[in-house]
Amino acid sequence: LGDKINKKIINGKKIAKDIKKNVGKGVLILAEKYKIFPRLDMILIGDNSESTLYTRAKRKYAKKLGIKSKIHRLPADISEKQVLGLIDELNDAPDTHGILVQLPLSQHISAQKVIDTIDPKKDVDGFTVYNMGNIFLGYKPYFYPCTPQGVIYLLKSVLGGDLSGLDVIMVGRSNIVGKPLSYMMINENMTVTVTHSYTKNLNELCREKDVIVSAVGNPGMIKADWVKEGAVCIDIGIKRRDIGDKVHLVGDFDYEEVIKKAGFITPVPGGVGPMTIAMLLLNTLKAALILNDINDQDIMVY
Ligand code: NDP
Repeated sequence: LGDKINKKIINGKKIAKDIKKNVGKGVLILAEKYKIFPRLDMILIGDNSESTLYTRAKRKYAKKLGIKSKIHRLPADISEKQVLGLIDELNDAPDTHGILVQLPLSQHISAQKVIDTIDPKKDVDGFTVYNMGNIFLGYKPYFYPCTPQGVIYLLKSVLGGDLSGLDVIMVGRSNIVGKPLSYMMINENMTVTVTHSYTKNLNELCREKDVIVSAVGNPGMIKADWVKEGAVCIDIGIKRRDIGDKVHLVGDFDYEEVIKKAGFITPVPGGVGPMTIAMLLLNTLKAALILNDINDQDIMVY
């Protein structure tokens, strides 16, 4: 039984590793053939410890692949105008390929305004209205947001390239995960039910679906009896739990029980999380190609 269970686990860490390896190769080719060095600029406002951790992790992984990066640390009380000024500078900087603003932002700064000041060709998080709007219309954006892009990749890796006709439920409708992913799944010809905190009978809706994708942040919310036998379960939710003196990361699914029924399931950690970082690095490489009008078959951008 142990082996049977193991085969159900979608190893996001391993899949992400393969993608990162290809990104690393692409970075090398860009440097050797074109003398271009992909660079990611991150804007971190204030001293939120999680945001600091996330930007440092992104910097660490970028470095491993030869992608240059810089964290612009700005004080919590910086004005919106100054942030917009920095983004304008980075938009014009020829050496900067990717620009990322670490969310959340404090109340006095409009996240929408800040993000939408980023040049869509440098918007490696895929959050600008331009990139989101293209997804909504079923056109190709410059960049897909990283977590949704990682989820589509995982779904294709277990279900094959064609997702047409599958019934999927998206739990969560945030602008950075649930909404763009819902539209990306529609664009894959899946039949998508989008749900949120006002949805009635969520358990019954889940039970009918071939695929359940959850991005809530409510540990263990999705129980085994919400899951159809053989369903694919994608867990985006992450919550930190202090157990003893250790910090554990837990997802939205009641993992130990759900895995017995699921056809495939992503673990937390080691499922969607590593894919998000891999997609950011991939998007940064892609930005360097787009900005320099390079279309090179030796460089894989998927
Ligand atoms: P948000 O808080 O912005 O959105 C959460 C969504 O869940 C909302 O749409 C909310 O509904 C919905 N929701 C809340 N309670 C329920 C409920 N009981 N039933 C159904 N829906 C509910 O979070 P994010 O989208 O930013 O992130 C979601 C989770 O994913 C978090 O745990 C986050 O840490 C994680 N995450 C993980 C990433 C990764 O790489 N693995 C990347 C990004 C996020 P409503 O709109 O009505 O409020």
